[in-house]
Amino acid sequence: MTSSYRITLLPGDGIGPEIMAVTVDVLKALGRQLDLSFEFQEALIGGAAIDETGEPLPQETLTRCQESDAVLLAAIGGYKWDTLPRQQRPETGLLGLRAGLGLFANLRPATILPQLIDASSLKREVVEGVDIMVVRELTGGIYFGTPKGVFATETGQKRGVNTMAYTDSEIDRIGKVAFETAQKRRGQLCSVDKANVLEVSQLWRDRITTLAANYPDVTLSHLYVDNAAMQLIRWPKQFDTIVTGNLFGDILSDAAAMLTGSIGMLPSASLGADGPGVYEPVHGSAPDIAGQDQANPLAQVLSAAMMLRYALDQPMAADRLEKAVTKVLDQGYRTGDIMADNMTRVGCKAMGDALLSALEG
Ligand code: NAD
Repeated sequence: MTSSYRITLLPGDGIGPEIMAVTVDVLKALGRQLDLSFEFQEALIGGAAIDETGEPLPQETLTRCQESDAVLLAAIGGYKWDTLPRQQRPETGLLGLRAGLGLFANLRPATILPQLIDASSLKREVVEGVDIMVVRELTGGIYFGTPKGVFATETGQKRGVNTMAYTDSEIDRIGKVAFETAQKRRGQLCSVDKANVLEVSQLWRDRITTLAANYPDVTLSHLYVDNAAMQLIRWPKQFDTIVTGNLFGDILSDAAAMLTGSIGMLPSASLGADGPGVYEPVHGSAPDIAGQDQANPLAQVLSAAMMLRYALDQPMAADRLEKAVTKVLDQGYRTGDIMADNMTRVGCKAMGDALLSALEG
């Protein structure tokens, strides 16, 4: 029997449409092979939505996303919209999408592929075998806490304010996702905070420690964020699953990303309590190479693989897609961001063609 899925596509800005086109072609080919039927519907977000409708997340886009089985997002943003007021900026659309779908957990794997070890800026012995999952809280913390804004003081100065705040239930729900993720991996969870300085982190540490009693098969450790940043670069293999708040997770997951050599290789999943998740590359819209057929589509393709595995429960399809990625790398195809000696440099479209051939083979 054919399994049928409704997928909302949000190509967004910059290289987004280029990497999305490759991914859709690959998914269609996979669907034909495995009798999966995808009903793709495209919607506007970010700068593309601002140009068309005046707002970065039109209600129609949010409704379509809410009514789908999963959302595949590319990237938003670009120079053109950088000077708009905050409410009309592309990033506001992304934050609105996360809030509108209740996406409180962001899962970012940082896995080093054997073919790309030399693309890492760290030594081979440091990065070989790295396989980390960063679980980042996504809808709380300093990006959402109030009061926020730039206020006038009594002395006539301006004062910028953001508030880092977490409730115990917010910590518990991300903690639960993290412990369950660690259970499916190697059973080690490292919680990252700044409990030596921040009260909000002290609550974070208390709750995560309390939760640990429910997961006797997971070994819990704690690190302060400054030490965690250092340890990630010093000896990343010590980490299995990391759980942390919104701001620390934003920074640490980008640092973890660079261990793998290219941000163009990293997928992510954002999940809520129920309803569709959003699957997207870690990287941004790369306006510096947009429209030049230079983008690496593999992070987007691997995001689709995560979608197949976690949202659509199609592990065989996910495996097949991930194997196709491994195969094209084995064959020596590289986009500019992961180029190395004696490899074949290809553009975004040619990488897509190589993936299609790998799937057929
Ligand atoms: P970026 O990730 O877009 O680019 C950083 C560098 O990596 C650039 O040199 C870029 O060319 C390169 N790069 C990124 N993805 C690549 C790919 N797939 N293939 C080859 N090279 C790739 O980050 P940035 O330059 O800080 O931000 C650019 C825009 O993207 C900004 O407007 C920012 O707000 C936005 N952004 C969006 C998201 C998102 O949509 N989730 C995330 C981060 C940044």
